[in-house]
Amino acid sequence: MRYLILSDVHANLEALRAVLAHAARKSRDAVLFLGDAVGYGGAPNQVLELLRGLKGRVVSVRGNHDRVTLDASQGVVFFNYHARRAVEWAAGVLTPANRAFLKRLPQGPLDLGDGVAICHGSPADEDEYLLTEMEALEGFRATRAFVTFFGHSHVPWVFELGTDGERLSLAGYPLRGTRITVDLHPDRQYLINPGSVGQPRDRDPRASYAVYDSRLRRLSLYRVPYDVAGARRRIMAAGLPQVLADRLLHGA
Ligand code: ZN
Repeated sequence: MRYLILSDVHANLEALRAVLAHAARKSRDAVLFLGDAVGYGGAPNQVLELLRGLKGRVVSVRGNHDRVTLDASQGVVFFNYHARRAVEWAAGVLTPANRAFLKRLPQGPLDLGDGVAICHGSPADEDEYLLTEMEALEGFRATRAFVTFFGHSHVPWVFELGTDGERLSLAGYPLRGTRITVDLHPDRQYLINPGSVGQPRDRDPRASYAVYDSRLRRLSLYRVPYDVAGARRRIMAAGLPQVLADRLLHGA
């Protein structure tokens, strides 16, 4: 099976369009969406309509921004000021059909069989960031899949769990570059972040996505330039904080 993996689109229509155009010629059996369709960006309805219109098998989980947009009162607990402004605005403009679609997104983790699972933050908790090896170890305890794809941190990253003689070995490393291929080792277990389509945070402003071939156990990560100026204009036109537009320039 070949999976197209998208995460953290964050209402960035220009980035999602660029990624889908870039991925269009690659064969795929399913699309995996790791959550956060909305939040931060200026095109929540357009992004949801594009996601809803994807052809073929699509398996999705909700992200924390998807959840909080449906119940903006949670923003006080979970979000900083700028993130809260964006979900409150999105909550006010969503069409009923898009709101219903968000509501149907299940909470992760979901195990698809085929050695593949998906979640938003960590397999243990959708709101939790997997940034360190200690956090990854907790995540590995909550999933049995060979590879679990996660989002939320917006940084393309691989955690690899194996054994070194009797001892567990755990390594984490970023994926940097325009096109990176990683062959997964059949005797190890993986947590992999495909990066963020709509709000990269690794100082590379290009949109990020991945393709995973479960037969070859091969991950390919791609970075795609997109119309950042267009995405920024939408954020400003919506009256959202300037910082949400500016961070797209820096991938931060
Ligand atoms: Zn996110």
